[in-house]
Amino acid sequence: MCGVVGIYAPGQDVMSDVINGLFQMQHRGQDACGIAIADGSRVRLHKRLGYVRKVFNKRPADDFQGHLACGHVRYPTQGSNSRANAQPHLVETVSGPRMALCSNGDLTNYAEARAWLEARGVSFAGSNDGELLLRWIAWHHFEEGLPLLEAIRRMQEQVKGAYSACLITLDRLYAIRDPHAIRPLCFGGDGQRWVVASETNALDINRVDQVDELLPGEVISFGPEGMQRHPYPDLPKLRPGWDRSAHCVFEHVYFSRPDSIVFGERSYDVRKRFGAWLARHDSVRGDVVVPVPDSSNAVALGYAQASGLPFEFGLMRNHYIGRTFISPDQPLRDDGVKLKFNPLRSIFKDRRVILVDDSIVRGTTSRKLVRMVRAAGAAEVHLRIGSPVTRFSCYYGVDTPSTEELIGNRMSEEEIREYLTADSLLYMTPEGVRACVDPERSFCMACFDGRYPVALTEDKRSKGC
Ligand code: SF4
Repeated sequence: MCGVVGIYAPGQDVMSDVINGLFQMQHRGQDACGIAIADGSRVRLHKRLGYVRKVFNKRPADDFQGHLACGHVRYPTQGSNSRANAQPHLVETVSGPRMALCSNGDLTNYAEARAWLEARGVSFAGSNDGELLLRWIAWHHFEEGLPLLEAIRRMQEQVKGAYSACLITLDRLYAIRDPHAIRPLCFGGDGQRWVVASETNALDINRVDQVDELLPGEVISFGPEGMQRHPYPDLPKLRPGWDRSAHCVFEHVYFSRPDSIVFGERSYDVRKRFGAWLARHDSVRGDVVVPVPDSSNAVALGYAQASGLPFEFGLMRNHYIGRTFISPDQPLRDDGVKLKFNPLRSIFKDRRVILVDDSIVRGTTSRKLVRMVRAAGAAEVHLRIGSPVTRFSCYYGVDTPSTEELIGNRMSEEEIREYLTADSLLYMTPEGVRACVDPERSFCMACFDGRYPVALTEDKRSKGC
């Protein structure tokens, strides 16, 4: 759960544009951020723990400028939250820093691939998947002498998992997507300036409106010769049953900002369809529809429009508390629910409330919310979830808890309803989700159905992300 941005604009200084892009994707990671920037002769790097506004409140140095750059916001999945694991990562050679890379995703054969490199004398500063991608490419390029594109292809063949990455050299930007296109990666530009990003809102802020998406496994280079697309050559190598994309459907459920176009559709529209699906499949009649803000706002709106019930913001969210789901420890998560939401009693009093949330992970937050709404005067609380039961962990870049910690893995739907103290509970079905997303694409839904598009090693299965 990270965000990447890359910009190539000959003759311009791109630092502010990269920062603007990172601001737009702060929701994808709040623990660390960084930018690597190049001017044709040097690559410079600045990265720290903390929000974009804190790390880049001023230019890191007078000479921190250039016409191409890549930037990153991080929430850790692989590797602890330390500066060494913040991205981008940099490769130093005897002639100085030459290459930097940042990535969104998670690798499934990290340990094996790292051991392979270490056996060849490569050392690592941290334990992060982005660093592994970079060292793999750099070793094949600088040590083996492969042209850079071939070194990237070698990485795509050997390193497995999810990655949407931006790589810069002294004078070129590369956008790289894994062969399953699990994480989003889009690009756009006008020939004078090219922007690559995890979400289209980072292109919007940079006034780029000709937007396209990297194809599965595609590499795009931006350099003095212009933009060149390099399609992935060998799709039949994908896991049987996954001959097309395996886009993460959770991007639409939760992660992407609703104004972003992800996997060809605006997440706002997809979420409204989720809500309409729930309304169509609901046998309970409520008095008012209330979202758990912010990620379920569009789902609740879709429900309200399809059912004809009034929509109200009955829970006020404190935006100065982080997202409870991504708080790394349990005590903070527990306190966070009360600190984060405050109920409007006049909305709830004596009403049958359709409370809409995007997903249930451990169940602790949902239980507190149901109790909060009831204590605010609701006559009934009916919980509606804009996704299926989350039963399995993610190994491709989303920091879900271990499978055993997921309430959907331990309890039946009726047991979950009882635990949450809701009057009724309705999830979407996997088929329902499929009916609401682009039918031309295939989606990873492994956290709901356990069908993982990239094989997991035993190491990965036991450790989790
Ligand atoms: Fe997304 Fe779930 Fe697949 Fe992970 S397992 S990539 S969260 S759909």
